[in-house]
Amino acid sequence: MVTVNDVNQAREQIADIIHETPILTSKELSSLCGNQLFLKSEHLQKTGSFKIRGATNKVKHAVKDGATFITAASSGNHGQAVAYIANKLNVPATIVVPEDATISKLNAIRGYNGEIEECGTTSAERIPRAKELAEEKNGVFIPPYDDPYIIAGQGTVGLEIMEQLEEVDVVVAPVGGGGLISGILTAIKETKPSIKIIGAEPETAQDTYLSLKKGKITSIPATQTIADGLRSSQPGDMTFPIVQKYLDDLVLVSEAEIQQALFFVLERMKQLIEPSSAVGIAAAMFDKLGVREKRVACVISGGNVDVRKLEQLLP
Ligand SMILES: *Cc1c(COP(=O)(O)O)cnc(C)c1O
Repeated sequence: MVTVNDVNQAREQIADIIHETPILTSKELSSLCGNQLFLKSEHLQKTGSFKIRGATNKVKHAVKDGATFITAASSGNHGQAVAYIANKLNVPATIVVPEDATISKLNAIRGYNGEIEECGTTSAERIPRAKELAEEKNGVFIPPYDDPYIIAGQGTVGLEIMEQLEEVDVVVAPVGGGGLISGILTAIKETKPSIKIIGAEPETAQDTYLSLKKGKITSIPATQTIADGLRSSQPGDMTFPIVQKYLDDLVLVSEAEIQQALFFVLERMKQLIEPSSAVGIAAAMFDKLGVREKRVACVISGGNVDVRKLEQLLP
């Protein structure tokens, strides 16, 4: 299992690449939520999401071990992050994307000199292809969450929160495959276990919620949510035991609540965040956290949206 030591090592590995992102606050948001809210702003991170943390940790290790080629399967934030860091380290990367990927995302990958290969429309088609490409060319496939280096890298968000907000009572973060939350859990629960950690998922993508309830990894059919970073169908083999061991609570939010949260942050705080990032704020706004008058850190996980389609994300 990943330990807080691994997270500390990851922090050293990635320090020259990532930003220590700011904490934003809004009196209006806090009074609306009945808690003091602090937004850990990973939408202002390099490549627009926290994914660069885990990707940098993993790719640096792979390169140190002699990798001369990198692959990943993603059209989203993970693909952008892997393309960025591979380019920075002068290692060629191929990102396997779905045939229906949006142009803006493909352009972002190309902007980082990533090679693009289209394959099917599901991750069940993409992942084997990306692994096969890696094998053919003596490269390394970089998974999106179920990997100790990825988990440790994402956990650096937790270290920064503890330093930036010494008095924090509660941390809320979105849950997709579980890399982000399990990294944060490892960093915080092995340092200051009194801090409460709450995960948030869309009602329509509640695979981790169901898995926790059943006490084992449980998969759900393909999900439909505007939170496209949280469309996982089941938690990871490596992430789920960490979630089971440490997570205090997991709450669900509706699509309409996600839209309201995104709208509030855009209109009042002038911050463009993506729907996957808005689930934690939605949980706080619609009183699902079960706490009052507490200092709550909410992880804003990313800000990559196709601006031309922004209207579809608003209430
Ligand atoms: C990937 C991603 C998530 C989910 O992270 P996991 O590690 O898969 O749980 C949440 N928000 C954004 C913006 C993401 O890109």
